[in-house]
Amino acid sequence: MTIFEKIVAGEIPCNKVLENDKFLAFNDINPKAPIHILIIPKKHFKNFQEMDATLMGKMTKFIQEVATLMGLDKSGYRLITNNGENGGQEVMHLHFHMLGGAKLNWTDAATDPQSTF
Ligand code: 5GP
Repeated sequence: MTIFEKIVAGEIPCNKVLENDKFLAFNDINPKAPIHILIIPKKHFKNFQEMDATLMGKMTKFIQEVATLMGLDKSGYRLITNNGENGGQEVMHLHFHMLGGAKLNWTDAATDPQSTF
């Protein structure tokens, strides 16, 4: 069981931002921007590549709701999902990183492999 599945099961606490029956949004424990929220489906999918397309449609709406709740719909944000080994995925349960609250840098991962965001 991944750490995010344990959060969904209530076995590990999280700083919750928004929740419904299918999805959960909570603050990242190691934020890389003033606002750094993780958004996950409660059902287990290893990563985006394995995600169900119909559920992804519902998740899109949930992600938009999180952005609006945080005021990021107006100021802007970055949405990232790391997929697999080369994508730098560490937790093997699909999650989107929502980053905002400041103007974010954009580095070239091809020339700066250490860059994260
Ligand atoms: P990945 O590298 O898989 O895309 O991102 C995993 C993210 O999960 C990292 O940003 C990391 O800080 C976050 N994270 C790992 N463990 C925990 C935890 O127990 N609680 C929370 N809230 N975030 C976590």
